[in-house]
Amino acid sequence: MNTSISFGALVKQHRQLQGLSQIDLANTLGVHQSTISRFEAGQTDALSEKYVLALCAYFNIDPASARPLEAVYVCPNPTCPLCYLFLVNGQIRGKPASILASPGKTLFCGACGTLMLDQCPGAGCKEPLSQTNAACTSCGHAYAEIPPYLKNIANPKDYLQQHNTNREKYIEITAKH
Ligand SMILES: [Zn+2]
Ligand SMILES: [Zn+2]
Repeated sequence: MNTSISFGALVKQHRQLQGLSQIDLANTLGVHQSTISRFEAGQTDALSEKYVLALCAYFNIDPASARPLEAVYVCPNPTCPLCYLFLVNGQIRGKPASILASPGKTLFCGACGTLMLDQCPGAGCKEPLSQTNAACTSCGHAYAEIPPYLKNIANPKDYLQQHNTNREKYIEITAKH
């Protein structure tokens, strides 16, 4: 099976193979026809997970092949108040709290207003962002730069230990290269 096809397009293929109209499928699921139309056109949040799983069961599609409904977005502003502090390769980095939304949406950070990223900012790298890491798992690019007020800290580890009392604990990461 072609894995580059979107999940909406895959559902459309299955529907047409069975000779069903969008209205037929909408009636089977108990949703509006326009919802099916938007979903097949790539609007992945048109159907909630419950209906996506029902579609997988109906067409015998492996749910693991369903395109993830949500992408991880992060704010790239290192001084954003949402930043968590991390050690990435021995340097302090800010990693903003992640937000989940439909892939490709334009989102602005609710805390600082900066345009949020849903892809790695590293040159030529388009990896989706990780929810649990502070750096790209493919190229190692950190999601946010070093906050300017932390650039001249002599012992970043000690600093984080002393100053992250409002966070559970700082997380140390060695990014892959
Ligand atoms: Zn922000
Ligand atoms: Zn990357």
